[in-house]
Amino acid sequence: MDGLAAVMNRIASIEAIVAPRAPRSAPQTTAGSGPLGTRPGGSAGADFERLYAGALAQAAPLRSAQRLEPGQYGPLQPPSELLPFGNGRVPPHALSSIGHGDHRLHAPAAHAFNQMEAAARAEGVSFGVIASFRDLATQERLAQEKGLYSQGGLAAAPGTSNHGWGLSVDLDLDARAQAWMRENGWRFGFVEDVPREPWHWTYRPA
Ligand SMILES: [Zn+2]
Repeated sequence: MDGLAAVMNRIASIEAIVAPRAPRSAPQTTAGSGPLGTRPGGSAGADFERLYAGALAQAAPLRSAQRLEPGQYGPLQPPSELLPFGNGRVPPHALSSIGHGDHRLHAPAAHAFNQMEAAARAEGVSFGVIASFRDLATQERLAQEKGLYSQGGLAAAPGTSNHGWGLSVDLDLDARAQAWMRENGWRFGFVEDVPREPWHWTYRPA
């Protein structure tokens, strides 16, 4: 609710700026009468929309990530609030839906994911979700099926996967969506941080 309260406060301050405009009965001013001269009617609405968009962005600021090559990211430091749970044991209440079936991520990552997907959609780009939070039992099964990454396979050792923190998502990307993610994912905190896994994106804001 902090975000909502911030928006309401910001709207109040915007209204204070926009509302006390010059009365309609004010004498005609000459065009370009000064840097603060009142512009023709209608500009207040445009000002409001611009300020309102800014307020929304402030209420839910995007946290961008460093833009590096996949192999250049060091070990991920999980958010401190997740540490008491342990990898693969994050409870449902700390996870949020990302709007694709049952897929869930740690709440801040889910929020950023939803914003990222909206931005992609606005540009006609869509992607599917293959994997998200993964519990320990599932990771153990996957390690047996796909082999350990350290041994040439595709699974992190159980207890070490960033899926176990609800911070990684595996995406189904066509060529255009892959390019979009490489160009824009970092703005939303999502980066391709594992070599050989172009589908694997992790929320690791700087
Ligand atoms: Zn993955």
